Amino acid sequence: MANMRNTAKPLTMNKTKTKGQPGTNKSRETLRMCAVCRRMLPKQELLRIVRTPDGAILADHTGRMNGRGVYLCGEASCRKPENVRKALRASFRTETLPDLGVLLSDGGDAQ
Ligand SMILES: [Zn+2]
Repeated sequence: MANMRNTAKPLTMNKTKTKGQPGTNKSRETLRMCAVCRRMLPKQELLRIVRTPDGAILADHTGRMNGRGVYLCGEASCRKPENVRKALRASFRTETLPDLGVLLSDGGDAQ
């Protein structure tokens, strides 16, 4: 019964969790929250509305415009101007919104 304490030796094996590890998330989708219904959805399924640094509010179909972005999903109720208006006002903290009919229409179903 002598050398039992040797068993705790390989502590260094715990070092496997580094951040560069791929494969923990099987899909690499970026999730964003719909500003109206607050569901988390893949970015590609959402329409991005952006407020640019000079205060213009635009539909951003590239997803790459500068500014603060807000996302809307494709649910009909999340594209209703009155709901969108409320969400945008809260997110952008402004009362000054463009014509939402125009804002929302040019991104519509491209079919
Ligand atoms: Zn929604």
